[in-house]
Amino acid sequence: MRQCRHFRQAPLEQGFRALIRYRVRLADLARHWFEIECRVEDAADEQRFSLPAWIPGSYLLRDFARHVVRAEAKTVGEAHRREALAVVKTGAAEWCVRGAGGTLDFTITVYALDQSVRGAYLDGQRGYFNGPCVFVLPEGRDAEPIEVTLEPPPHSACQDWQVATALSSAEVDERGFGTYRANDYDELLDHPVEISDFESVEFEAAGVPHRLVVAGRFESDLDRVATDLALICTTQIEFFGRPAPFDRYWFLGLAVGEGYGGLEHRASTSLIFGRDDLPKAGEATPSRDYQRFLALASHEYFHTWHVKRTKPAAFMPYRLDRRNHTRLLWVFEGITTYYQELMLLRSGVVGLSAFLQRTGELLTRVYRMPGRFKQSLDESSFDAWDVLYRPEPHHANSSISYYTKGAMVALALDLKLRLDTAGRASLDDVVRELWRRYGARGVGVPEDGFEQLAAEIGGLDLAQFFTSAVRGTEDPPLKDLLAQFGVGLELRAAAGADDRGGTPRAGNGELLTLGVAVREREHGLELTSVLDGGAAERAGLNPGDVLVAIDRLRVTGRNLARRLARFESGERVTASVFRGDELLEVGIVLKAAPLDTCYLAVRDQADPMALERRRAWLGG
Ligand SMILES: [Zn+2]
Repeated sequence: MRQCRHFRQAPLEQGFRALIRYRVRLADLARHWFEIECRVEDAADEQRFSLPAWIPGSYLLRDFARHVVRAEAKTVGEAHRREALAVVKTGAAEWCVRGAGGTLDFTITVYALDQSVRGAYLDGQRGYFNGPCVFVLPEGRDAEPIEVTLEPPPHSACQDWQVATALSSAEVDERGFGTYRANDYDELLDHPVEISDFESVEFEAAGVPHRLVVAGRFESDLDRVATDLALICTTQIEFFGRPAPFDRYWFLGLAVGEGYGGLEHRASTSLIFGRDDLPKAGEATPSRDYQRFLALASHEYFHTWHVKRTKPAAFMPYRLDRRNHTRLLWVFEGITTYYQELMLLRSGVVGLSAFLQRTGELLTRVYRMPGRFKQSLDESSFDAWDVLYRPEPHHANSSISYYTKGAMVALALDLKLRLDTAGRASLDDVVRELWRRYGARGVGVPEDGFEQLAAEIGGLDLAQFFTSAVRGTEDPPLKDLLAQFGVGLELRAAAGADDRGGTPRAGNGELLTLGVAVREREHGLELTSVLDGGAAERAGLNPGDVLVAIDRLRVTGRNLARRLARFESGERVTASVFRGDELLEVGIVLKAAPLDTCYLAVRDQADPMALERRRAWLGG
């Protein structure tokens, strides 16, 4: 494994001169304080500054300004001549510096202890930040070029810390500390920065230099990971067409005990994952955990085109002080979720059976949400800010994820296009044309743009499909569609709380259910959702109740299905649950488990046309 030295970037453009310059200091590791100075030339007499309320790609108002612990301003001059200027808070995320004019420094101190890919973090082990958490915008100056200086930490314990970021470097030392630049504020915000003693490895994909950085504790073979990522990245660049719309790309990873998530950016992504998701040295075929890691990387990389460049017109520009509603999030997250899997298959890092198993698991997550009959995909997109990103126990009954249902509809649309055009068109053509027509030209996708384009590319009338699958709440006819591609879709009952679907069930016998989703707690099973029409709902159980016993025998996540298997459908049992500190005994009439668990299987005895279609779709 090669150790990271600074990753060379394109040289500075001629004539680059910034009137806005930031300095980022790792001011106090123990207090988790970043100090960010913003020096502005040509400041107004009453100069306002603001901090974003959200970070693009993560559709929730996070109000980053609540982590600002201090804000101060000074005139600029000789050290002993510098004068403090009055700073007045004029809004939730807005400050006004009075009596400035000319050049001034506005400095905020930011408390940073959010380890997620959306936040900022600083302690004795690691520094990390996203621009929206730390960079204030001087009002009206968002189109100007910017310089940022990252100061090396003064602490001796941080001697081995280095910088990883896709920001363009201007003048940096071999550890990456020094001056970077951005052409405007939007670009500045779109490059997260990792500062720690990370490990890293370089690779090339379609001639573009890539780097994988992993912070946190882990043991793995990063060269192996780089080899797999190179295949996935090359496949995606070839898919959208050379040249790639970026000249370097960074995967900024953090390995933790438990965690999973990513956030896309124009030339990088931040990933968080379990340290055991990385492959063991010498591991031959990717484990289920490693597949999960590769799928996350594949997902975020696909976004480099599909949502970072091809994006809803409603995001052009992003308005960072409020919710930006669009009905198209399913197009960007659902289609990306479908393609994250296809790209693993097409690049050869997973085989057909793993693809089918993972897709079966994905569909299972949709079939288990009764809320898909209440909320449509375009409503789910529109309401992301207040529903998907602010989960409540009742949402399983009233809403659907535009990721999973979006991927299901993407799959159905792909198959429909292939079938109804006799293989002349597919979703590939629609996604690529969306890129050429909108993303590559910097034009936003109008709210009806995707549907129109799909109909145009296919030469089909798709109104009924979109009315039912996107604006309506019907399941797309996947079983019939897949059968025409020599793939069977089967639904069965769940065999227990840890049954994720994707495979046939081992064993037989009737399966019963309480009609709940649960989370294992130290003293029992917490009901995270009580599903509509289920046995628990009829018995009056609440989300938040903690189930401890059935018929006075203790239940756990592992033994619940076994305990229920001792009974027959329609039998009455007594559930012991804690509601707060009160122990309740509740009679429950057990019901047969619904067929909500999905798996896909190839049907090699299917007719030759179907097998030919499957080969064109999945290559096998
Ligand atoms: Zn995504």
